[in-house]
Amino acid sequence: MEFKWVDTHCHLQLLNEDFDETHCKNIEFLIIPGVDVKSSLKAKEISSSLDLESYWSAGLHPHDAKLLNTQREDLKKLFSEADLIGETGLDFYRNLSTKDQQRESFLFHLEFSKQLDKPIIIHCRDSFQDTYDLLVEFNNSSPIILHSWTGGRKWTKRFRELDVYFSISGIVTYETAKDLQLSVKEIPMNRLLLETDTPYLTPVPLKGKDNRPNFIAHTASKISNLLEIDEKKLSEITIKNSRGLLKR
Ligand SMILES: [Zn+2]
Repeated sequence: MEFKWVDTHCHLQLLNEDFDETHCKNIEFLIIPGVDVKSSLKAKEISSSLDLESYWSAGLHPHDAKLLNTQREDLKKLFSEADLIGETGLDFYRNLSTKDQQRESFLFHLEFSKQLDKPIIIHCRDSFQDTYDLLVEFNNSSPIILHSWTGGRKWTKRFRELDVYFSISGIVTYETAKDLQLSVKEIPMNRLLLETDTPYLTPVPLKGKDNRPNFIAHTASKISNLLEIDEKKLSEITIKNSRGLLKR
């Protein structure tokens, strides 16, 4: 029996080939995040053309935070139309924009998430302390999604105090992701989400191919083993959580 899943983070607009809805057979609904103005517009276009239920977000990826000044006004317009804000956040692993540029862009997204009361999608890589501090300082009241969460137990426990959603990607299926596998058990059941991050982060055993929404079943199966709950239950819980964050 195939269960239904919500893919809370799939960049369908970044796939090289034309997207085929048969790649979504096991998908209840999905969220298409933007990473700059162009890809946010494309996310909006794909979302309205799909038969499948879908949502889209507008944002500027931390890698491109240096472009904020040229994209700010277009992003503001898109924020008012989008279902969610982001992706934004901090990436101190690759540092493709400076830390200051990333912080400024992150705060810009947080302000609009608060003002418009829309959920915010956050990318957090090698930046747990800084992301945590900014979230505490900002005290956002709209839902916060930590996308492709990779924190270990310590950071999962700290962030869960902020009532955030933890979205788990295919990384959890990797041999090297032992810390993440342990930390999944620390996530409150009503704050657990699943995602593919299509076209990236393809789960085992399909690693090497471009990722697709339906590959989420491999991630779900791994989490169901880690949490020792059956997939039917996991499907129900994650669908409920995903709907909850969109319908406040
Ligand atoms: Zn992403």
